[in-house]
Amino acid sequence: MSRLLEIANRKKVMVIISGISVTIHAVLSLVPYLMVYYIIQELSKPSINYQQAETYLLYAVYAAIISMIFYFLSGILSHIAAFDILAELRKFIAKKVGLLPMGYLSNKNSGALQKLLAEDVERIEHFIAHQIPDFIKGIALPLITISLLFAADWRLAAISFVPFALLLLLIPQMYSGKRNEQIKNYHQSLENMNAGIVEYIRAIPVMKVFGQSAETFEKFGVAVYRFQTFVNQWVKTSSPIYAVFMSFINNATLPVLALGLLLYFQGGLSLPTLFIFLLLGTGYIKPMLVLSNMSMQISLINRGVSQIDDLLAIAPLKESKTWQEPSNHGISFIDVSFAYTENNPVLRQVNFDVKPNSITAIVGPSGAGKSTIAQLLSRFWDCSMGNIYIGGIDIRSYPTEQLMQMVSYVFQDSFMFQQSLYDNIAMGMDKTQEEVEDAAKAAQIHDFIVSLPDGYQTLFGQSGIHLSGGEQQRFQLARAILKDAPILILDEATAFADPENEAKIQEAFSRLIQNKTVLIIAHRLSTITDVDQILVFDRGALSAQGTHTALLLQSKLYQRMWNAHTRAKEFIL
Ligand code: ADP
Repeated sequence: MSRLLEIANRKKVMVIISGISVTIHAVLSLVPYLMVYYIIQELSKPSINYQQAETYLLYAVYAAIISMIFYFLSGILSHIAAFDILAELRKFIAKKVGLLPMGYLSNKNSGALQKLLAEDVERIEHFIAHQIPDFIKGIALPLITISLLFAADWRLAAISFVPFALLLLLIPQMYSGKRNEQIKNYHQSLENMNAGIVEYIRAIPVMKVFGQSAETFEKFGVAVYRFQTFVNQWVKTSSPIYAVFMSFINNATLPVLALGLLLYFQGGLSLPTLFIFLLLGTGYIKPMLVLSNMSMQISLINRGVSQIDDLLAIAPLKESKTWQEPSNHGISFIDVSFAYTENNPVLRQVNFDVKPNSITAIVGPSGAGKSTIAQLLSRFWDCSMGNIYIGGIDIRSYPTEQLMQMVSYVFQDSFMFQQSLYDNIAMGMDKTQEEVEDAAKAAQIHDFIVSLPDGYQTLFGQSGIHLSGGEQQRFQLARAILKDAPILILDEATAFADPENEAKIQEAFSRLIQNKTVLIIAHRLSTITDVDQILVFDRGALSAQGTHTALLLQSKLYQRMWNAHTRAKEFIL
């Protein structure tokens, strides 16, 4: 609770006023009952003062109206506070994410992050908007009611506790360790089933291609069946105790009624008091039950909050503020080692130089660490040991903004924003329309864009057009051409091109790489035979480096890769 108020920060006052309002609402909501007491008292007098009774009635109506206004006020304040906190928290997390090592946002984490920004934050909203007021009401209302009842008649007040005491005996049964285990299992099998559904839907195209039917998708079927059996079993074991529980709640007035009538007929109790006990005697039980249900919610919220806190605790990359003057745009890796996770080195003592305005290809079996090299150069991560230099200056000494201006990264998967095609190339860069169109021409995508009815203003995405993989790649190249950064990293960018696109993409490439320091992560060796230098990586270490002809003589691994590549080509031809 205190951590949530801390998150609430500037909205704390609002949350507190909302709590006070709901307490006033709870107090006032009891006034009509009190008035019923006085009215009945009045009506049971030998000479009835109707005007007095009417005044009580009016008081009851006023109290009900004011109580409603306070409830309304509390709701409005708690909702405004909650949605403000929600927006601030999301902005805060988004800002924090922007400062995190970019590699953190790899696929592995994006799902978790999405859950954090959507679900976990949402739960906090629900808690502040609804549960804090419910919580305060759940404590205030029973306390006031119980004090009133004891003041009216201690004997009846005491007996009204009997059902509550029995419920307290039942609650440990319902919330036993076994039940907690069952709740955990319930969520687990629900998650399994949901994961099964997602996988099933994703797999439909593949299943169709291979002529499979839904019945063969066993994993999904098993998950659904498991969930069904689990829920059936759970309902069977928990419903008897739940039925007892509910009947206690619904018939909680019975002991009060029995003792109340006895006392009344013995003459030890007035009719208005009996009445008020029948109305209020067990009314505090339900709000208290709300509290017990809340415990589960609170554990979920706790989990969300601690995940948010974990995210906020990740150290951002160290940031330099001073812009540097590199002597050129050559690259050096000196004794670079790196591990994504402890004791699992991915790069070991890597040393190499890339001359300014030269082309270097990185090759090696899958998992050798090629993409990691590229990611370290753009500071998606910082290397664990060693140094990476651009123009003789350690990349950690550049402000991120300067580094980002120096390096263009053409990803394997291109990302398109749901914006106009123009904005998808311009990407907020400070460029003229002519420059954007020139870049599109160089990337061989201009003719395609102007052939569309809305031209550059055509929207991409759900409400606009869809583009083939090859077309999207050319948009990415247009962005890189427009950005015109002196260092260029290409990550297997041509791997998915079809032949017609490939010619265009090659043309776009040759435009892009003019007078640049280029690092290509290559799979198809035939495209890199002319590059200035090839680095051969093997299990995280640089195993050989040189030109294509030199490596064919020196490196066994390169020979093997080259042979495999040429054989594959013959096979395709
Ligand atoms: P390559 O590009 O040569 O195929 P990578 O650089 O992608 O190789 O990966 C090198 C090793 O690092 C692989 O074992 C891979 O599983 C691991 N790896 C890559 N990215 C991550 C990541 N984000 N977290 C943990 N391990 C990773």
